[in-house]
Amino acid sequence: MNYQSTRNRCWTVSSTRAVLEGIAPDGGLYISRDLLQADFDWRSLLEEDTFTMSRRILSALLPDFDDMGELVQRGYAGKFESDELTPLVKVGDRYVLELFHGPTSAFKDVALSILPQLITAARQSEGVSGDTVILTATSGDTGKAALEGFRDVPGTRIIVFYPEGGVSAVQQAQMVTQEGRNVCVCAVRGNFDDAQTGVKNIFAQCAGMDLGGARLSSANSINIGRLAPQVVYYFKAYADLVHAGRIRVGDKVHFVVPTGNFGDILAGYFAKLLGLPVGRLVCASNANDVLTEFISTGRYNKCRPFYKTISPSMDILVSSNLERLLYLLCGDEKYVASLMEQLAATGSYQIHDEMLAKLQALFSCGCCNDETAEKTIGKVWAKEHYLCDPHTAVAWTVADQFMAQQTDKAPVVVLSTASPYKFPAAVLQALGRKPDENEFAMMEQLRRATGVSVPKGLAQLQNKSVLHRDVIDREDMLSYVLKKVGEAQW
Ligand SMILES: *Cc1c(COP(=O)(O)O)cnc(C)c1O
Repeated sequence: MNYQSTRNRCWTVSSTRAVLEGIAPDGGLYISRDLLQADFDWRSLLEEDTFTMSRRILSALLPDFDDMGELVQRGYAGKFESDELTPLVKVGDRYVLELFHGPTSAFKDVALSILPQLITAARQSEGVSGDTVILTATSGDTGKAALEGFRDVPGTRIIVFYPEGGVSAVQQAQMVTQEGRNVCVCAVRGNFDDAQTGVKNIFAQCAGMDLGGARLSSANSINIGRLAPQVVYYFKAYADLVHAGRIRVGDKVHFVVPTGNFGDILAGYFAKLLGLPVGRLVCASNANDVLTEFISTGRYNKCRPFYKTISPSMDILVSSNLERLLYLLCGDEKYVASLMEQLAATGSYQIHDEMLAKLQALFSCGCCNDETAEKTIGKVWAKEHYLCDPHTAVAWTVADQFMAQQTDKAPVVVLSTASPYKFPAAVLQALGRKPDENEFAMMEQLRRATGVSVPKGLAQLQNKSVLHRDVIDREDMLSYVLKKVGEAQW
């Protein structure tokens, strides 16, 4: 399976190269059209343990990596609460796929625990000697998960940019207390899109530039090495439903996915392309409902108010991974490039009807504002005694909308992307409690109110010292990176 740029089919690279570069030199994303004809023995996979599933799926998607089993071991062994990685829990009339049992209590751990291993292996097979510098913009969760994943990994350094005031206090504390000799964390005055656009511009400007032997790469879900590991939990959830006797092999399952950059849900589409009987992929958005409009009408329009919501990891107006889906749906890189040009120039584009029909044949959508998400958290706690975080609550609410229209009996799996303890203020509010001033006191307050235990990594945060204090304007991101890369020691 080779990878092409979504904007230029002639730009073909190996999977190791694609992981190492993160983004194609023309600004496109790496994708493989071979996915559309994948011949993958997924049935035999259902009997395997999660590590074996990971090894086989990753080897299928990223065939140029040797020893994938070893990379999976190093990436995951002992880092999650259990080696099952992502448990499926029955809650009321649906299933919740809990993706937040990794080291930083966010679903991004699933990919970012193993991405550093993939990058290290790719460095070796591509004969890279200088440092690989990971640049990442984060809306809150990616940053910490990436820092933790790359911390002290030889041959790598990582710089994380987050929007000042745009992440929760717990998320910020997680990042600014990060230890490690190769890590750097910096706030940007602006929102997540500003930070992400800044990072993309740096990649564009530094293509071909000599950075003292160092090369830039990305840990955002624009890197195919981020997406591939996420495909695994769709299979794992399906296998769990088979083993629980809820479905038979071959039956459909619907997945409702809280979405921001369209990475998590795109991984679900990859699972479907590999043969998994995925029913509808339901795209759940918060008040930043750019994807709801897009899937409903075919018009993508980022010129709209930007809302800061209680589900900040989905406060995104430019959904990067959509570009991969567009390319897979139409196979016409010139058309994709023209849409992306329109987006950059005018802030919007409209896809043609044939493509919209293809899109709607696969994806459903829905959105939910903060008030409704809070009500959902309260309702699910009262009715099911299950505590969900605001992102999961968005997906739960959209699953309600979806199930009200759905007539088949196929199970519905709601993807749960964060521990409720990462967003204690919103969760307490939703339970009708007045949150304390301090987010750490809130965690304890939430624990007392619910009896749900606090994840270890979050409980220990309070006692850690702040190690990163930089704050810059978005115009200064490039010079900041150049300065940092030039420093021998951080
Ligand atoms: C990143 C994130 C999402 C959105 O995932 P995408 O891959 O960007 O669609 C949802 N919930 C949480 C908690 C996240 O951190």
